[in-house]
Amino acid sequence: MGNTWFTQLRHFLDDSDEFWNSKGPARKLTEYLCSIVKAATSEVLEISFPTGIRCRRRPKRKPCQGEVYAFLDNKKNVIEWYCPLCEDNGYISDWENTKWDMRFSDIILVRLSLFESALIQNKTLAGPDLTGCFDAANEVSDSIAVYYTPEELEALLGYIAAEANHTSDKNLGEELDLLYERLEILLDTIELKTLR
Ligand SMILES: [Zn+2]
Repeated sequence: MGNTWFTQLRHFLDDSDEFWNSKGPARKLTEYLCSIVKAATSEVLEISFPTGIRCRRRPKRKPCQGEVYAFLDNKKNVIEWYCPLCEDNGYISDWENTKWDMRFSDIILVRLSLFESALIQNKTLAGPDLTGCFDAANEVSDSIAVYYTPEELEALLGYIAAEANHTSDKNLGEELDLLYERLEILLDTIELKTLR
């Protein structure tokens, strides 16, 4: 069974939004909470969603393989998070207007399966400005999560469309089309966010 953690993000930060604890487990916990805040506040739909963040628990000293789900409750300004595997979970408050508060930023969290990220890296002409973030992203549930601005996501869509139109490989074309359609829907949700 997991624990329930009630945390206030500013307890972990100094006046300039830097981490109080510059190393060790306390810093790891701070980074973990900040990454959850960033993910939760960049999502537009008010639903619990997979963040691409790997659970930090190590039951019996083995890393939990679960992926953290998060949800921003806009009415209470509380971020709820949980690991579906080990049931570790918590509530984060006092995160508003820290530098991990993405409510008013236009970046969007893009979750790609390892298959999709390999497709982009190996089959399209998208350069390291768009794919460099793949290497730094943690793999969890056979996926990675990266952040893009609308301009970057649009550029990426352009590379995917170009290759889909260009290839004579029918399967590859279909795979690229599917990916294109999914990412295009994500791009549309950014507009929702600016209306929020
Ligand atoms: Zn877990």
